[in-house]
Amino acid sequence: MIGHEKLHEETVMAAKREKTSTLELLNFLLQVEDRRTFAVVGYDSMFTYVRDGLGYSSAQASERVAAMRLLRKVPEVADGLKDGSHTLTSVAKLASHVRRENLDRVAATSLVLETANQTTESLEKYLLGMAQVEPPKVERSKIISAELTRLTIDVEEEFMNLVKRVRELRGNPALPLSEVFRHAMKEEIRKREPKAPREMKAGQVKDDANETVAEDEVRLPESELKQSGGSGVEFQSLKRSRYISMRDRAKTHSRANGECEYFHPQTGKRCGSGFGLQMEHVVPFAKGGVNTAENLRAYCPAHNQLSAVVEYGTEKMQGFHRLKKSPTSVPIRARIAGGEA
Ligand SMILES: [Zn+2]
Repeated sequence: MIGHEKLHEETVMAAKREKTSTLELLNFLLQVEDRRTFAVVGYDSMFTYVRDGLGYSSAQASERVAAMRLLRKVPEVADGLKDGSHTLTSVAKLASHVRRENLDRVAATSLVLETANQTTESLEKYLLGMAQVEPPKVERSKIISAELTRLTIDVEEEFMNLVKRVRELRGNPALPLSEVFRHAMKEEIRKREPKAPREMKAGQVKDDANETVAEDEVRLPESELKQSGGSGVEFQSLKRSRYISMRDRAKTHSRANGECEYFHPQTGKRCGSGFGLQMEHVVPFAKGGVNTAENLRAYCPAHNQLSAVVEYGTEKMQGFHRLKKSPTSVPIRARIAGGEA
């Protein structure tokens, strides 16, 4: 058996190694996000990648993702993690403060430097004292038996008024909160869930323009990007209809079973995210791809974006993202074309 001094020495060394590996992990995560590796290998976000792909709990995953993003903004975080003046937990807490308060690099850096060597508790108090924006309400869910989970949330007066109104409308002033939520959530899901495929007779397909526009808004404006190339052939794409029939839409959704169809070619790992599914062309619309179910896939936003990057390159996509929020504003073409010069 080794002596106490030796044991202590080796434990100190192990702790040092642990700190170095935390930093190493964060540096890897930076690259995984920058290069969109998480999407390539089949995950819909950095959070899902860290939780499901790397096997951390939800809390651990959000801590690591938050810390990684602060490390990107403030490289000094690396020194803090290395010398132990900051921990993963303290960096994650600083990260959410920086994001909430929308601090710039300079302000974030001085915050990191002045909060070195604080315990989690005193750091929390310090940040509360500095906060201009009210910190988010705490939400907890705790499994209390095989069938039951206990939720704890803080709500505003307006929320309780909504609850009261639902109870009135349902004619039961004592309707349990869980029932109120259940009804509300079912209603939300009913409204948002992609429609189940319906049998349609030939010629019954109606030109529901609204529905098409809704999903095309988030799609890459392929015709516009192409147009900046200036070739006459590409103008053709403007004349073709982007309309996707209800039948093809329904067929795609039913094949996808409400889950993102992206899979990593090497591992076969399917994304399966049910979040914000969009129609994606296998052969891009601008390259003559047709609007039939065989040429359509249901993709989550991360994978829609990934295939656009693969198709058009990061630069154009960055231009596109800057413009995405105002799809109707006039200077779009000019700016995309400018970005290409
Ligand atoms: Zn996906």
